[in-house]
Amino acid sequence: MSIKRRFPVPLRPRTLLVLGVIAGLILCMWQTSRLAREQALQTLRQDAENELRLSAASLVGHLSRHDYLPELLASREMVKRFLDDPAGQDSMPLNRLLDRFRATANVSDIYLLDHTGETLAASNWHRRDTFIGQNYGFRPYYREAMAGKNGSFYGLGTQSQDRGYYFSAPVRLDDTAPNARPDGVMVLKVLLDAVETGWAEQDAELLVTDHNGVIFMASRPELRLTTMAPLTQAQRQTIAASRRYGDAPLPASGLQERQRHDNRTRLVDFASGPLEGKRYLSLTRPMADFDWHIQILKPLTPVNQAQWLAALLAGGLYGLVALGAGIGWQRLRLRRERERFAERERRTLAQARDELERHVESRTRDLVATNRQLSAEIEERQRAEDNLRATRDELVQAAKLAVLGQLAAGINHELNQPLAAIRAYTENARAFIARQRIESADANLAQVLELTERMAEISAQLRQFSRKSGDNLTAVSVASCFAYALRLFQSRIQENQVTIAQHWPTQEAWVRADPVRLEQVLVNLIGNALQAMSEMPEPRLTLTITIEVTCVHLDVIDNGPGIPEAHLTRIFEPFYTTKTMGSGLGLGLSISRRIIEDLGGQLDAGGHDDGGAHFRVTLPRIADPDDPARPEEISHA
Ligand code: ADP
Repeated sequence: MSIKRRFPVPLRPRTLLVLGVIAGLILCMWQTSRLAREQALQTLRQDAENELRLSAASLVGHLSRHDYLPELLASREMVKRFLDDPAGQDSMPLNRLLDRFRATANVSDIYLLDHTGETLAASNWHRRDTFIGQNYGFRPYYREAMAGKNGSFYGLGTQSQDRGYYFSAPVRLDDTAPNARPDGVMVLKVLLDAVETGWAEQDAELLVTDHNGVIFMASRPELRLTTMAPLTQAQRQTIAASRRYGDAPLPASGLQERQRHDNRTRLVDFASGPLEGKRYLSLTRPMADFDWHIQILKPLTPVNQAQWLAALLAGGLYGLVALGAGIGWQRLRLRRERERFAERERRTLAQARDELERHVESRTRDLVATNRQLSAEIEERQRAEDNLRATRDELVQAAKLAVLGQLAAGINHELNQPLAAIRAYTENARAFIARQRIESADANLAQVLELTERMAEISAQLRQFSRKSGDNLTAVSVASCFAYALRLFQSRIQENQVTIAQHWPTQEAWVRADPVRLEQVLVNLIGNALQAMSEMPEPRLTLTITIEVTCVHLDVIDNGPGIPEAHLTRIFEPFYTTKTMGSGLGLGLSISRRIIEDLGGQLDAGGHDDGGAHFRVTLPRIADPDDPARPEEISHA
């Protein structure tokens, strides 16, 4: 389905431009070809003019070369003598003379007519178609000569049908009466074929026409005896009367004028015949002496070639220029496009930058606010942590006091025993002093002194345990920590007859810790173990130190009742205890685990093959400190 447009659609600028360029190309090619054609035509015309002049001159030369000869022969005595009495003489000597002249002058025929026009002697006497006996009284050259003038004529030979040019001269027997009627006529015939043969070699056609427009001579045989234009009836009658062209039909040559430049110059072609379709530049020149026109036809091929060549060259040049202009224009367009693109990019970038800046600004504001909030939160957390630490320390202390509570019974015993002994020794001393047994009293007092020293040692140990610890981490010998904790429970161990099995490695084990806290953990574990074994018949406490590559294990194993599986996960919870009110706070293990984890280690609980409980402290191992003084420093011995 086609849609009919009601209004003409306006052409796009690009289409217009292309159309303009094409129109320019056509115009340029057309104008150039026109100029080239004119130029080439001019040149061709000059060539034609030269050739025509030369051809005409050569034709005139060829013909007029012989015009003196009839007159010369007419004056010969032999001719006159023969003409005086032709019947009574042998014509052969004259025939031979004429033939000799013919050969020398290189003409077609020479012959002598009597006053009636009958041929008396001829150079062609020996030929079958000899002129001898023929009457040429009808020929104009005869009539002109009989009128006392030199005559001339062109036309077809009646015998030979050759085209010839005839020259004639009157023959007078009496030279002294020049105005008397001539007694005969000397005639010379020149053939025109030789001239035409020369023409055929030229790059042009040459035609010679008579005043009726009959082509009498032509470089092309086909054109000979045709006419420039169809003959009128009157013309035909006149020509037939002169018998100039015999019975020749004289058809039209088909030549037609296409363009007329001036009177002499035309463009012509042939409507029919062998030259049909070809175009020629025609140049005509009159040959006044002969009442002829000589015409040259130069083919237009070089003009056409020059025209095409020029058009193609101009087209090519125009194409190059148009291409160059097109490329230049494209480049200009591209550059503008690039500039526009760059400008757009710049603007987009600037927008994006502004946007980003705004974004960053708002984000910075948010961040500053968040930062402030975080700082506040950190401060808050710091405070909370401080609180927590304080609380934890309090708790640790509380746990310690709880252990002290547990220890109280032992301590009591530990202190009461020496106190009772001191009292006994003092009473003894007083009694010995009363009896003046100073030495015995002194021995008792020495015992008292020893006992007070022991009590002071116990007190010092308790003070040591109950002191608050700091955060001072140092290299600690694990074995010394165990030894300190055991010493704290010494009296209880003895009282309950607990067997102690110590498995110490040959090498000393070192860890980084706060010694007070590590001791607290061990006191807790040993205390719990002793408490668990209090009902056992053969209590046995196994303490093991194992050194691994990166860590140290501290094992506290008892043969008490052990910890039921269900309790294992709960015993490390704060305030979880199975002990009766007053004997346990349920804080020991939770605080111990916390202390060990703070040191980067771990505290685990489990069962043992003997059925008792097994607690294991694992701590990162450190190397033996270089300074030999350090172990003493951390020793509690
Ligand atoms: P407390 O000793 O004040 O109860 P702990 O945190 O030290 O608090 O101990 C928690 C609980 O773990 C104890 O009540 C006890 O049931 C159990 N427990 C600890 N050590 C042992 C042990 N050696 N044998 C059996 N049970 C133990």
